[in-house]
Amino acid sequence: MAIPPCYRFAMSIPTHITTAMTLLRRGAPLLCLLLLGAAHAQPAKGFNDLGTVYFQEGRFADALERFGQAHKLAPEIPAIRRNMALCHQALANEAMENDDLNLALEHLNKAIELEPRLPTPHAQAGAYLFAAERLKEAQPFLEQALKLDNSQLDARAMLGEIAYRANDHAKAETHWKIVLEAKPDWPGLAQRLEKLRREAHIEGDFKRYPSAHFEISFGDVLTEATLSRIFDILETAYQEIGTELGDIFPSETVEVVLYDGAQFAEATQSDPHVGALFDGKIRAPITNKEGRFLQNATLKSRLRHEYVHVVLRHRLGSKVPWWFNEGLAETLSRKMDQSRLRLVRSAFRSEETLSFQELESNPRGQLSPEQVSLAYAQSHVAVAQLWNEGKAKFPALLEAFDKSPSYEDALKSVLNTDYATLEKLTETATNEE
Ligand SMILES: [Zn+2]
Repeated sequence: MAIPPCYRFAMSIPTHITTAMTLLRRGAPLLCLLLLGAAHAQPAKGFNDLGTVYFQEGRFADALERFGQAHKLAPEIPAIRRNMALCHQALANEAMENDDLNLALEHLNKAIELEPRLPTPHAQAGAYLFAAERLKEAQPFLEQALKLDNSQLDARAMLGEIAYRANDHAKAETHWKIVLEAKPDWPGLAQRLEKLRREAHIEGDFKRYPSAHFEISFGDVLTEATLSRIFDILETAYQEIGTELGDIFPSETVEVVLYDGAQFAEATQSDPHVGALFDGKIRAPITNKEGRFLQNATLKSRLRHEYVHVVLRHRLGSKVPWWFNEGLAETLSRKMDQSRLRLVRSAFRSEETLSFQELESNPRGQLSPEQVSLAYAQSHVAVAQLWNEGKAKFPALLEAFDKSPSYEDALKSVLNTDYATLEKLTETATNEE
């Protein structure tokens, strides 16, 4: 779902302020002050105007200071308080541009304290928390925004997503229908609603089974033995993978929807070779198409694979190249097998492999099924090599993916490996059977 990158704040600008701004830009601050002073006999209004000038110049901290002075002199003027709140919202925005969510939330809480009935600081705080996947904390902010102004479509769309993630299909559908009625071209939402309806049709009466960090949904009664087997796989993955990647433990309950083989194909509309997937929820079949339970080892490697995606999404959002995401998921969920090494080796010999640069810039959907399975195999071999040689550095690598403008630079800076070197490493590894 698209989240607005930042909120815009509008203040209405009287003409004497436009003139004052021109003076300030031309390097005549004294004239500017004189003009503002002349415009009012009231000093509070003078400070307020100067604050407005700074605000328009994008100097939000300075603006806040001036509005604060004005507020002290004339606490009875509501517009001044509103301006202070707007400054905090703009400063929150700046904090987010520097990836500082805590500071942003501090500013928004101050904005809310100043103007509790202004819907946008609630919506803004909710949006930031939502983007950080802190859905439980986002929800009350978004609900409050909607309570104060029920035309806040962003907040409504996000509340729909939160309900959807918690398997409340009906509530999600209600929110999304309202958004689509107001704005039929809301990016991706019509498809999302269609997906929701398809899933709700199958999963509507699924039973829920919670554990410490997961909630399983399944259409039938699961025996104690089956449940504890599956929870054991998941909770072990939670501890082991979270620890190995640098103590990454999602704060939200991870939803795991289990199906029989036929339901999985129908609900996910995925290709027959897909064993499980993660789309915000882990989805996996526990029986094959004939209705027989999958072997424990198969289920374990599939669930662990998807759980790696959960952790990376929690840590990095989408700031990770997909080939790396898949390669790491494979590395931490199954042993390398010889047939996979042979596939990659022969692809190197016939020059059919794609470079990591090409993989990075080509979404999976643009590759043929053969290219995708080769890419998975190649990425598995590559990431397994990196993992074997330097798994202790993986937490730093994830940090670099998060912060560096280029994934290749991140690899270079942390593991001293550029894409060309990684390709050589991968090719060499296939020759070491
Ligand atoms: Zn995957």
